[in-house]
Amino acid sequence: MTATAVHGVDSGASGAFAQAGMRIAGHDVDTTHGPILYLDDVSVSFDGFKALNKLCLTIDDGELRCIIGPNGAGKTTMMDVITGRTRPDAGTVFFGQAIDLAQMTEAEIAHAGIGRKFQKPTVFEQHSVFENLELAMKADKRVRTTLRARLGSAELDRIAETLLLIQLRDQVDRQAGLLSHGQKQWLEIGMLLMQEPRLLLLDEPVAGMTDEETVRTAELCESLAGRHSVVVVEHDMDFIARIARTVTVLHEGSVLAEGPMDAVQADPRVIEVYLGR
Ligand code: ADP
Ligand code: MG
Repeated sequence: MTATAVHGVDSGASGAFAQAGMRIAGHDVDTTHGPILYLDDVSVSFDGFKALNKLCLTIDDGELRCIIGPNGAGKTTMMDVITGRTRPDAGTVFFGQAIDLAQMTEAEIAHAGIGRKFQKPTVFEQHSVFENLELAMKADKRVRTTLRARLGSAELDRIAETLLLIQLRDQVDRQAGLLSHGQKQWLEIGMLLMQEPRLLLLDEPVAGMTDEETVRTAELCESLAGRHSVVVVEHDMDFIARIARTVTVLHEGSVLAEGPMDAVQADPRVIEVYLGR
């Protein structure tokens, strides 16, 4: 593809991270003495309505955490706060020990190593699967490259590895617009992975997927855990049951219950506000 095809993508190595000589994988998040994500007493109000109400949440490094809860519980608002899209009115939001997310812009938070997948896939429809991954990697301001530059073997290896992970190796030259809904979702996750995030936030990743795509997405989430920390918000309980380790139930902007899937499913309060419906 041509370098002019995408405007507004940083094409130099002038970003602060590149100047500091950081390696691509070198997201500098200090988790030696604690979690990768720490929310304490976080509140967000919209016109007096508390979308988040003293929310406390801790995610360990490498953890795969599922978050469930009824519509309006504050799940998306929580992701908005973590990614800097919404400012908390009160409370603490830390990425590792030292990074205060409440002080940072959305772009700074993304560069610090938090990737977010929205519900609707946003891939470059006219470009191939390969080009989408290439563009995602080159849009990463920490990578010392230009859009015009040929990819090195390390970069090609990373694309190959990602293609395997998102199960699109046999679609590599296909135009992204022609992929199924599920495949587009995986491609978008792949694009996030090209930026090597420490923490990935996935908002309803299996909405609109076929059963088979849902199973594959569960496998993908499980293979991401460990290398990345992953927070998944989802309503599909079969999907949650497949991947669940610790499940957090949000209700009215705070944590109603948290624990292993079977304990959460048996919790009368959870049944009343969510599962029993
Ligand atoms: P969930 O993702 O759990 O369904 P949300 O975080 O989207 O819940 O919403 C929580 C509550 O906050 C809802 O009542 C919603 O209407 C409200 N809300 C979310 N974003 C805004 C906004 N930008 N302005 C006003 N109200 C909002
Ligand atoms: Mg939501």
